[in-house]
Amino acid sequence: MSRSFDVIVIGAGPAGYIGAIRAAQHGLSVACIDEWQNRDGKNAFGGTCLNAGCIPSKALLESSELFHRANHEFNKHGISASDVSIDVSKMQKRKASIVRQLTGGIAGLFKAAKVEGLVGHGKLLAGRKVEFTPVDGDAETLEARFVILATGSTPVELKIAPFDGERIVDSWGALDFEEAPGRLGVVGAGVIGLELGSVWSRLGSEVVVLEAMEDFLFMADRQIGKEAQKQFSKQGLTVHLGASVTSASRKGETVVVNYTDASGDQQVEVDKLVVAVGRRPFTEGLFADDSGVELDERGFIVVDDECRTRVKNVFAVGDCVRGPMLAHKGSEEGVMAADLIAGEIAEVNYNAIPSVIYTSPEIAWVGKTEEEVKASGRAYKTGSFPFAASGRAKAMEQTAGMVKIISAQDDDEVLGVHIIGPMAGELISEAVLAMEFQASTEDIQRTIHAHPSLAEAVHEASLAVDNKALNFPNK
Ligand code: FAD
Ligand code: NAD
Repeated sequence: MSRSFDVIVIGAGPAGYIGAIRAAQHGLSVACIDEWQNRDGKNAFGGTCLNAGCIPSKALLESSELFHRANHEFNKHGISASDVSIDVSKMQKRKASIVRQLTGGIAGLFKAAKVEGLVGHGKLLAGRKVEFTPVDGDAETLEARFVILATGSTPVELKIAPFDGERIVDSWGALDFEEAPGRLGVVGAGVIGLELGSVWSRLGSEVVVLEAMEDFLFMADRQIGKEAQKQFSKQGLTVHLGASVTSASRKGETVVVNYTDASGDQQVEVDKLVVAVGRRPFTEGLFADDSGVELDERGFIVVDDECRTRVKNVFAVGDCVRGPMLAHKGSEEGVMAADLIAGEIAEVNYNAIPSVIYTSPEIAWVGKTEEEVKASGRAYKTGSFPFAASGRAKAMEQTAGMVKIISAQDDDEVLGVHIIGPMAGELISEAVLAMEFQASTEDIQRTIHAHPSLAEAVHEASLAVDNKALNFPNK
């Protein structure tokens, strides 16, 4: 007789493993199937995020930032640090150890929550049956009352610059360099391009980024995008906008990249090339022909607002469905799916999902950009506050950037908050909470913020919306 579960989750990234744990918290019997294999041949839960995304990239960003500050900032504090050097291999070992601890932690969480973690491939058959093929065994058919698909995404590969795993690599390859390449090319000035470009630039690579769009960080508020462009160019990151890559090929130990921009045909030669032009949903081998699940024209699993696919009691969450490809978005969808399965009311507020780019300065936002609000036709007011006027930021020697708040003219509702500056990724949480509670700008104005803190910049920006800033001249 086949084994049967209340819920089977396919995929143990942040969308799937969180959904599995929440389902188990409801007292349901749960299995979570995952096939992720690391370069050492070992399987690990955690998906892209823990193994090859959020966590390893943040580990390297931290190490490289410390190295950069030791070289360029310590002196200002009166600290002499001569002969500062970086042992890249040790840095990579630290990163790998963090990844190991966290992925191992999921196995522990599964055990504690009584989720059955199954290592191998999952395939959805008709009638909510799931074929499970263990890495080293025969396929078995499992049965479930509910299925959650959480199979994530994979990097987009350009035909004109195919990955060779050595010189032309994806983000995972760029996280694993054993030394800083002399010259590093990056195709795509998106989140990955800027984060990983920053890592290797701080460690000594000469970095050139080729971006197809004319606007830098086109998805961000324009004022923030322009400030970011200024900061990155100060740091020595060369970004060519409006650059359309036409080919990239190996030439001995280098890669020759051809591209066209407003000035015509261009060429750049680099030692390594990272292609980071987005990710696509991953659903290969996931469905039997008669599973009934539909994909859209871009390959995403079609779901409604509650992450229900077209097949009864089959949900899909995370990067394999529409919406931003962010770990926290996937996790909240996993929670929602599990809560709905348990018969609870649940929803995800897609209007209040924070975006964070972990560069220096950090960039974070939630809600609408000024351009989006303007296009919506709603009357609005804005206020901003520069970190240059923040005592805490000065003490931290991190005064670049600002907080900008966009609010509705009619009812004072906070519509968007945009931050570029120190700890922007932490500061944005206050704004997310405000938006989640549909706060007015006055609510933030009347909230007491500790002094001296970076959060005071959020407070002052909210005051500036109504020309009431106290520590900076008003408009
Ligand atoms: P994934 O994490 O991709 O997990 C899917 C899992 O399903 C994988 O383990 C896969 O092996 C498994 N799987 C797929 N098909 C099957 C099958 N048929 N059977 C069994 N198992 C299967 N997001 C952030 O929010 N913050 C960040 O700082 C951040 N940094 C990033 C940095 C990089 C370099 C990259 C590449 C991404 C980053 N992201 C970040 C994005 C984030 O990693 C993804 O949004 C997130 O991992 C999506 O979670 P998921 O659970 O949907 O999918
Ligand atoms: P992205 O969508 O952020 O950026 C891709 C960039 O490549 C865009 O600016 C795009 O205009 C450009 N581009 C596309 N085709 C191009 C071409 N042919 N030539 C030149 N430029 C081209 O994608 P990404 O940086 O690859 O990241 C993938 C996903 O991972 C994103 O959805 C992101 O949300 C997620 N991620 C998040 C974080 C974070 O939250 N801090 C970090 C890394 C990745």
